[in-house]
Amino acid sequence: MSDRANKSTQSVIVAVGTELLFGTTVNTNAAEISQMLHDIGIGVLAHHTIGDNPGRLHRTLEIAFEQADLVLVTGGLGPTQDDLTKEVIAEYFGVSLVADEEAMKRLEALFEEYGRTQFSENNLKQIYMPSGCTVFYNNAGTAPGFALQAAESEKLIIALPGPPREMRQMMNESVLPFLKGRSKYTIYSETLIFRGIGESMIETLLLPLIDGQTDPTIATYAKEGECAVRITSMRENANEAKTAVEIMVRQAQKLISDHKPC
Ligand code: ATP
Repeated sequence: MSDRANKSTQSVIVAVGTELLFGTTVNTNAAEISQMLHDIGIGVLAHHTIGDNPGRLHRTLEIAFEQADLVLVTGGLGPTQDDLTKEVIAEYFGVSLVADEEAMKRLEALFEEYGRTQFSENNLKQIYMPSGCTVFYNNAGTAPGFALQAAESEKLIIALPGPPREMRQMMNESVLPFLKGRSKYTIYSETLIFRGIGESMIETLLLPLIDGQTDPTIATYAKEGECAVRITSMRENANEAKTAVEIMVRQAQKLISDHKPC
């Protein structure tokens, strides 16, 4: 099997926040991050949800890194005392928290904009980042995110703010380009939409392609009134990925020849 299936193209998502466990906030971030990662060819092996508790978060990071080398954490990056994500990650990776100059400048600019002059200790907490990390500045809020690579292993952690709008913007502006930049693979995918035929029938017809798939991969998704068939290839060579997908698209259309895609 090629190394596309190895641990480094898989990830685990950890959502931090006691409100997620109470059920008062629905963990939409995990779902959204999963979809975004899938779109760039990174699989998601598990979602973990954990409260604002340093010991349990530390243990969850251990479990997550047993499952994959890439872990994305969302939540708990804010200024309040129960926001412990950064501290726990720094401790887990054995690095200290250091003041980030750009984060300080941004905080000062924000305070100036709101006519405030005094920082509280809580505000200042946000400018301290794990030593050696890549900082992702927050253009939709105040808490920066970051990527931190372990010194002596493949472990890479990415921390994102909890508010969905901030998480989404940081994923799109910073994290996805960062992850794509690290990958030597390019992704190409095409989606065929079918109406008037159910997902189970489509799956049955496509079984020859679904069974034993490696690259391209083929997956069906039922939506209201229609079924999508997504064919994706991830290769070092972009042209090869496109050609491989186009070949499988033709094979799929042949297998579902009674129905034309929309
Ligand atoms: P800040 O404290 O600066 O707002 P943060 O990174 O500390 O950011 P949290 O305090 O953990 O984030 O969460 C802030 C809000 O974001 C929560 O009250 C909740 O409404 C929302 N939120 C947090 N995590 C999630 C999640 N996984 N899915 C959906 N919404 C979330």
